[in-house]
This record gives sequence, C-alpha cells and structure tokens, in this order.
Amino acid sequence: MEEFQRIILVHYHEIGLKGRNRSVFEKRLQKNLEALLRDYPIVTIHRISGRILVFLKEGTSLAVANQCTDAILGVPGVARVSCGFKVERDMELMGQAAVLSLGEAGAFESFKVSARRNHTDFPIDSMQMNRDIGEVLCEVFPEKRVQMKGQDVTVGVEVVQNAAYVYARSERGIGGLPVGSSGTVVSLLSSGIDSPVALWRMARRGAVCIGVHFSGRPQTSDASEFLVDDIARVLERTGCIARVYVVPFGDYQRDISISAPPALRVILYRRLMFRVAEELARREHAGALVTGESLGQVASQTLDNIKATNAAVTLPVLRPLIGSDKLEIIDQAQQLGTFDISSQDAPDCCTLFMPRNPETHAKLADVEAAEAAFPLDQWVQELADAAEVHDYACPSYRPPKKRRPKAEAMGVEEDAAQGETPQA
Ligand code: ATP
Ligand code: MG
Repeated sequence: MEEFQRIILVHYHEIGLKGRNRSVFEKRLQKNLEALLRDYPIVTIHRISGRILVFLKEGTSLAVANQCTDAILGVPGVARVSCGFKVERDMELMGQAAVLSLGEAGAFESFKVSARRNHTDFPIDSMQMNRDIGEVLCEVFPEKRVQMKGQDVTVGVEVVQNAAYVYARSERGIGGLPVGSSGTVVSLLSSGIDSPVALWRMARRGAVCIGVHFSGRPQTSDASEFLVDDIARVLERTGCIARVYVVPFGDYQRDISISAPPALRVILYRRLMFRVAEELARREHAGALVTGESLGQVASQTLDNIKATNAAVTLPVLRPLIGSDKLEIIDQAQQLGTFDISSQDAPDCCTLFMPRNPETHAKLADVEAAEAAFPLDQWVQELADAAEVHDYACPSYRPPKKRRPKAEAMGVEEDAAQGETPQA
C-alpha cells in the first residue's frame, strides 16, 4: 500500500467573517499555530479554501500526529480538527487512505463514510463517493457494521482543490477567535479557580491577555506566585497569555488594614488592585480589565460592591463569569487543566488582614471617605513600578516599548501604536 502524507486539517467558523477581516483572521490563526506547534515535526502550514492545512513530516507516527492534534484542539479560533492523510484525487488511493485511517481508529463496531467535494470539477458526487469508499471498507472490515446514525467512527473524505483529505479522527475545537484579533486586556489573576477561567474565556474571544497577580509578599510567602506561574504555563500552551505582572502587595494591605474601618477593607484592597491593574493596562495599551467575579459568590461580589470597585477605574471591567455557576466554572477549569493547581492552598494577599464581617453593600461615599487618608496616586505608581514581569510565549503579543525617561520628562507620549496587536 502507498505511504500517504499525514496531515491535520484545521477548520474554523467563517460565520461573520467577511472581506478583509477574514484574511486577517486566517493569517492570525496560521501564525499562532506556526508558533505554538514549533516543537512538532511539521513541514509547512498553509491555507486552502477556508481551512488551514498542517503537513507532517514523512514518517511521523500516529501517536505524534495525535499529540499535535490534541495541541491544536485547544487553540482559540479552531472550530474542528481532523487528523488523517492527503492523497491524490483518485478513488482507488482515497479508498486505500480510508482503510488506513479506519485501521488506526482504535476499537469500534460501526462506521460510516462522510464525503464532500468543494468543487464540482471532481466528477464523482459525494453520494457516490460514500458508496464506493464504503464498499472498500466493508471488504476490508467485514465484521464491522455500516451505521448512518450514532456510528462509532466517521471516515471523512474531503475533495478540496486538486487533492483529497481522508481521516477517521475529527473533533470539535474550542472555537472562538484567534488570540490577537480582539486587542489586549489586563486580567486579574489570583491563584484561585475562577480567574484563570475568566482569562481563558477572554483569550477565546481573541484578546491577548496580560495577567496581574497581587501577592501578599512580604507579609506572606511567595507560594501563590508559584501557583500563578504554573497556571500561566498551562494557559501558555494555547497562546492565551503574554505576561504576568506580580505585584508585592502585602505592605500596602497592612497599611490599609491598620487605619480603615474593618468592614470596608476588602473593598479598599480591591479598589487599589483595580487602580494598579488600570495603570499597568495603560502601560500595555490594554483596553479593559478582566476579573473572575461571579454575582453573589462571595461578599465582595454583590451588585453594590461591584459598583463600588468599578468606580475606582475608568476602563471597562469585564467579568466573563458573572452569570456562571461555580460548578460550571470548575468543569471548565478541569478541561483547561488549571483546576488541580488552583485547588492547592496558598495565601495570597486576600487571606491576610481579612475582616470578620465584610461589608456587602458598600456606599461609595463611605468608601471614598475611608480612602482619603491614603496617598493613592503615589501607591499606584509605586506598586506598578515594583511589579515583576514574567513573560510567556504568546505569538501575537508585542511588548510596549521601554519607557524612555527623557521623553517622559519632556511630557512626550511614547509611541502608542507600538504595543498594539493587529485588529481583525
Ligand atoms: P478566584 O477563584 O479567581 O480567586 P474568588 O472566588 O476567590 O476568585 P475573590 O477573592 O473575591 O473571588 O476575587 C475575585 C476576583 O478578583 C478574582 O477572580 C480575580 O480576578 C481578582 N483577584 C482576587 N485576588 C486577587 C489577587 N491576589 N491577585 C489578582 N487578582 C485577584
Ligand atoms: Mg480567590
């Protein structure tokens, strides 16, 4: 039997993608895949009529092809991934590739063939292809059943331009838009369960995500920072996170806890966090803040308190989990691979200096009165300057230009275009 070239066919949703947007989207996804799959034996990645085609090197094993497929499934913008072979537009060769594919499909009892042709210049229509290839498969696998609904395996055959693609493994990807097609956001990242999921959801809508973690250091250990780094490495696999700023927050939290009314402390910490995140967003040219809040989940997540924390900043604060149930969030964290990390205990700033009865309906006037005692502007600059940067591989991210002290002193704005990512 012929030795066929292994390929992976990547489908994306074209809905809503028109004109120029579409080619920007495709190029972005292609570039992201090229960077993320660097360690796999790939000859080339290119685009053919509404699909991205990954060519694997000759002799690549099924196991490696499957690993590569798994890696692609989690990449934002990918709607479906099919792993199989490229063959000439020749029914006999297509039949052989179908036999090979089905033979690699693992244990199964029933199957069907699902063929399509992109151009009618291929003389055999899809019904006929289904029948002919189905017949070949029945001869080679006589003990297996053909089943039109609820079958164990579907052998896909796609005739596209001047070649055919045949596969028995085809799975839904996570969908969304390629990272880098929706601008940049700054995402508040604790080591808890919720915030990594919130960040990931924004990345799935195409945002480049910059994490900010407030560590209780020097009042606590740096344990939460290690967990956040582990979480970022999981997110990095699919190109979802560009960097994490770690802000040593402990001393400021202590200062607030010494003089502010206990019930308001949590809100004051959070307003300071938001302000620092907003300053970092300004430096990164990011367009929004993101949190993992979910309505009513804890005392600080009531409508009144959300209003009080929002009032500290002018950037929009996006809360992708606001209407999600904790169990849904846990499921998603498990799928994402962050749940086990997030379930480990590490004191971050929020577990320190916690009041016994936090305010659940804060009044903005009371909050602002309590804040008047603090040199907030100075603190925000100090904290943003003290933040330690950890970089992760995010193919569509370009860091902002280093700030030039001289230009700053003269009041000259740095080049705002620098840190921006291309818009779809
Ligand atoms: P999570 O599971 O994300 O930790 P949570 O259920 O513990 O959330 P809160 O502690 O009220 O809820 O935090 C709400 C949100 O505020 C978090 O999802 C995160 O976006 C942000 N946040 C909280 N603590 C920190 C921190 N130490 N550093 C950065 N962001 C934080
Ligand atoms: Mg938490």
